[in-house]
Amino acid sequence: MANALVWFRNDLRLADQPALAAALSAGQVPVCIYIHEPEEEGDWAPGAASDAWRHHSLAALDVALRARGSRLRMFRGPSLAVLQALAAACDAEAVYWTRRYEPAIERRDAEIKRALRGQGLHAESFNGALLFEPWQRATRQGAPYRVFTPFWRSALADWHVPSTIEAPRSLPDLDGDPDGIPLDALKLRSARGWDAPFWDHWTPGEAGAHEALEVFTDGALRGYREGRDRPDQVGTSRLSPHLHFGEIAPWRIVAALEEARTAATGADIDAYVRELGWREFAHHLLHHFPETPERNFNPRFDDFAWARRDSRALEAWRTGRTGVPIVDAGLRELWHTGWMHNRVRMIVASYLCKHMRQHWREGARWFWDTLVDADLANNTLGWQWVAGTGADASPYFRVFNPVTQATRFDPDGRYVARWLPELADLPVPLRHAPWDDPGRVRRHAPDYPSRPIADLAAGRDAALGAYRALKDRA
Ligand code: FAD
Repeated sequence: MANALVWFRNDLRLADQPALAAALSAGQVPVCIYIHEPEEEGDWAPGAASDAWRHHSLAALDVALRARGSRLRMFRGPSLAVLQALAAACDAEAVYWTRRYEPAIERRDAEIKRALRGQGLHAESFNGALLFEPWQRATRQGAPYRVFTPFWRSALADWHVPSTIEAPRSLPDLDGDPDGIPLDALKLRSARGWDAPFWDHWTPGEAGAHEALEVFTDGALRGYREGRDRPDQVGTSRLSPHLHFGEIAPWRIVAALEEARTAATGADIDAYVRELGWREFAHHLLHHFPETPERNFNPRFDDFAWARRDSRALEAWRTGRTGVPIVDAGLRELWHTGWMHNRVRMIVASYLCKHMRQHWREGARWFWDTLVDADLANNTLGWQWVAGTGADASPYFRVFNPVTQATRFDPDGRYVARWLPELADLPVPLRHAPWDDPGRVRRHAPDYPSRPIADLAAGRDAALGAYRALKDRA
């Protein structure tokens, strides 16, 4: 049998794995490899939380491969050079992988494909991550979409998603070399073990992804439309890191939800698939506007008067010590679990960009380092949406009031109490606005900031003032 390299990247699964399926259907022995080369990711090399997740996910993939008679061979080094050396060493005739869409990776992969083909290898890539390719949709004028609703309408009108493929039961493997290096040699795990508490909340890997999907379809799916906004409840699927690392294909999620469709669940399923649609839209935007992880999507904001970078205020925000409980609870949830609820992501981002008037890139970078689901497309869209600088963004003048948000979406103060136990004994209105009775708060929580670092009314006025100045200049 001929050999083929199957290059695993952010597609760490065996079901719905088109690169693996290609090798098997060509009758080739799949030599399963992973190459670690963060330098090739440009300015957006994965952050510490992503690395920690990847460590566990690679371990899970290796276990799944070994259970089928194969294994994952891991390497470090420039990807092209490693692929060329491996193809020669195993006498491979083909290299298969699934596509990634980060601009630096897209460029690198195009070069790799050209070089491999140039030396006579069969090099082929597949969609493994999205319901459809980011370049597949265009407006009637042939331009990229900039607004979600027509983008999604066009996707629904022409709905063809891949079929599911079960994981192979057994796999052939090469005899012996090349062996690669042990997982620990990739040094993905922090020596300090700061991520240890994450794993009470997550099971990285394909089996963990399938389990999370089952838990969701059996539970929070019913009522998702409303429940998805409640950080005090389990109202969402928590599939985002599994999706980012490709431990599950989005079309498998859609298929599982469709199986659960009844008159009672239909609207919740549509709402969920629409959220997957935002993920598709984020990839569409990143593909067509590759500069947006760094630059305002809307160049009008290039002249916006952000406040001067304030490293002390930024540190208070990162560590959950702003004095605004819902903001601090979110940032502590992030630190302890590697994840934050979407509603709270919007609240903490709004407080940073509007009340504190710090640049959205500061927040995006922190999320990049600390989220287990850090994803260049989704993170860029999320931050630019909240900051008001993005495509189809929330207008800048819409400033979230964190107390109103907390009262509405954490009405019993349970979310705040969970992440800020020092405030748990306060009655609910004070739990969300402790500055209303500073004496009482000092007695309960002497270490909690007595006032917000950016006053809610003054911060809002200053943000709106800066926005008006920008408009007047236009
Ligand atoms: P569910 O509600 O169960 O949604 C299902 C899936 O749909 C998610 O797993 C995700 O893949 C996708 N999705 C949901 N909401 C969005 C959205 N607004 N944009 C794009 N895709 C979405 N998501 C990331 O995956 N990585 C990020 O780095 C990221 N950064 C964000 C930064 C900010 C400032 C904001 C406001 C949002 C960000 N999001 C990001 C989007 C969203 O918060 C998460 O996808 C969601 O909280 C994940 O939880 P879940 O899987 O339980 O979501």
